[in-house]
Amino acid sequence: MSIEIANITKSFSSFKALSHIDLKINTGELVALLGPSGSGKTTLLRIIAGLETPDTGSIIFNGEDHTEKNTQDRKVGFVFQHYALFKHMTVFENIAFGLKVRPSKIRPNKDVISKKVYELLGLVKMEGLANRYPSQLSGGQRQRIALARALAVEPKVLLLDEPFGALDAKVRKDLRRWLRKLHDEYPITSVFVTHDQEEALDVADRIVILNQGQIEQIGTPEEVYDNPINPFVYNFLGNVN
Ligand code: ADP
Repeated sequence: MSIEIANITKSFSSFKALSHIDLKINTGELVALLGPSGSGKTTLLRIIAGLETPDTGSIIFNGEDHTEKNTQDRKVGFVFQHYALFKHMTVFENIAFGLKVRPSKIRPNKDVISKKVYELLGLVKMEGLANRYPSQLSGGQRQRIALARALAVEPKVLLLDEPFGALDAKVRKDLRRWLRKLHDEYPITSVFVTHDQEEALDVADRIVILNQGQIEQIGTPEEVYDNPINPFVYNFLGNVN
């Protein structure tokens, strides 16, 4: 699913969180939204998700204007930094949730749901944990379950807000490799928010650098690495005088 963001502006009271954002994301791309805190990354992600309405501009999915449509029509999966798993539900129930709450006409039956949940547990390498509760899992395991839950509804677009930010370095690396592999194997379009330059350079097909609500640079990791115009990235790459 391609995503076209055209002239998006968003203010909160008098504060301009995003100004005139134009961005085309191709089907199958893994795009990182990189930038310092407060640069508008989450706001842009929420607008793509349909969780926030822009003041101006439009969001086009595969050529179709979705600006006025609600989240459910966008076929997006969403993964947050802090897992947001349902504490009172087992891993199985958490992953099955999105399928169970579908309107009755398109709700799969129990066996189909069960097959799908175990398939997803395999995909995120969490077989054997179906009956645990979130409190019995490590941070990395919880985030794997959150990814499985987001993928349960077979989204065409996966939106991730600092998905690995709260995890330790080794787990973070494993999960970003996993996200890369998912992209190499499935036709899914993803946008992930990060303030971790290394993460963006490591896994993204393209990096979009936001600064004070505007796009400062768009490029492949190689292009950004070779020509870092944002001081945030520039400093990270060790180019400080
Ligand atoms: P980032 O994800 O890059 O840290 P955000 O998109 O979360 O940035 O926020 C951009 C700016 O907009 C911040 O200054 C933030 O305080 C402000 N902002 C975001 N959401 C709201 C809101 N619901 N109400 C008021 N201000 C907001």
